[in-house]
Amino acid sequence: MSKPNHKIETKIIHAGEPKPHIEGAVSMPIFQSSTFEYDGETESQTLRYIRLNNTPNHRALHEKLAALENAEAACVTASGMAAISTTLLTLLSPGGHLLIHKTLYGGTYDFITKDFPSYGLSYDFIDGSQPETWESLLKPETKAIYVETITNPLMQVVDLEAVTAFAKKHGILSLIDNTFASPVNFRPPEWDYDISLHSCSKYLNGHTDIVAGAVIGRSDLIEKITTGLIHLGGTLDPHACFLLHRGLKTLAVRIRYQNESALKIARYLEGHPAVQSVNYPGLETHPGHRRAEKLFDGYGGMISFEVKGGLENAKAFMREIELPITAPSLGGIETLVTRPATTSHSRLSEEERKAHGISASLIRLSVGLEASEDLIEDIGKALGKMR
Ligand SMILES: *Cc1c(COP(=O)(O)O)cnc(C)c1O
Repeated sequence: MSKPNHKIETKIIHAGEPKPHIEGAVSMPIFQSSTFEYDGETESQTLRYIRLNNTPNHRALHEKLAALENAEAACVTASGMAAISTTLLTLLSPGGHLLIHKTLYGGTYDFITKDFPSYGLSYDFIDGSQPETWESLLKPETKAIYVETITNPLMQVVDLEAVTAFAKKHGILSLIDNTFASPVNFRPPEWDYDISLHSCSKYLNGHTDIVAGAVIGRSDLIEKITTGLIHLGGTLDPHACFLLHRGLKTLAVRIRYQNESALKIARYLEGHPAVQSVNYPGLETHPGHRRAEKLFDGYGGMISFEVKGGLENAKAFMREIELPITAPSLGGIETLVTRPATTSHSRLSEEERKAHGISASLIRLSVGLEASEDLIEDIGKALGKMR
């Protein structure tokens, strides 16, 4: 049994696990059954069905995820985007207006900027680091403010405390995409966020083998969002539930290792003569470092940097690097490397990328679980070829 005062390592293993263990199974079995028998013939039945997101596999995950962020409730979804789109469509209601930080995950940015008008929703960009500028963008129909814990790909940390203070003051909801930090490094409900969103495809599962999402937070809102999810159909398959459940068990050890390894690599990059600049909230030179130090238990596994010499050298780095796999996505056990201009932010126009400070030569690393020394040696070799 897990208790509320247990440390996150303990909750990861024990929260939400069935008691007694089903048939004594130490590992939660997969209930690969679309529908479940009634408890008995009564006037109203509690239906259990995979799309209702309420099979034993779902319920165990919901309890575990809520415990990890010290939240009232949680709900898993078929992808991170299912979590985000369902949450926004459910909570904004027709005519609703949303304040968003100017840089967001590409899929979220596209959904809001391209699809909102057809749903009768509107938005305005805010600069998350300048809370004094937000009030002028409020409208009578503003329903929520939406930010990310660590922005992609520049790893900025906006004024996360001002976001919830602002939401409280103006009676709107505070929403945060906590994918990059994971509950090990940051727990939004502890800082008064109403809703925390995750792409579980990243750190929570951690093994680069499923797509899943989660919504964590206030139980009244989770209930509403679950109803929306059941209608829209973006619920999670039990087999993916099982894999997410299994992946989650090592979350704390993975994240702590990745925190340490990424900090070593960021420091190495910062000191390398071929590197122009490094974006990592754990570096004292990072503009959001003080904020990150106060709010986070670790700085995460994501780094971006620019090599000197621009695009040609960035391309050469991508060619020369051997251990990291050149692939989009992040948060897995293997180190991945991308150029965001050609992957996560390829759908933005050149001008939009420029406005967001994303140059064509920016390189992003998702640090995995390889030995830091081996990664540093490999990175050093590739940087050694720069001219
Ligand atoms: C990947 C990602 C998403 C989308 O998640 P999917 O599981 O791919 O749908 C949303 N937000 C962030 C920050 C992400 O990295």
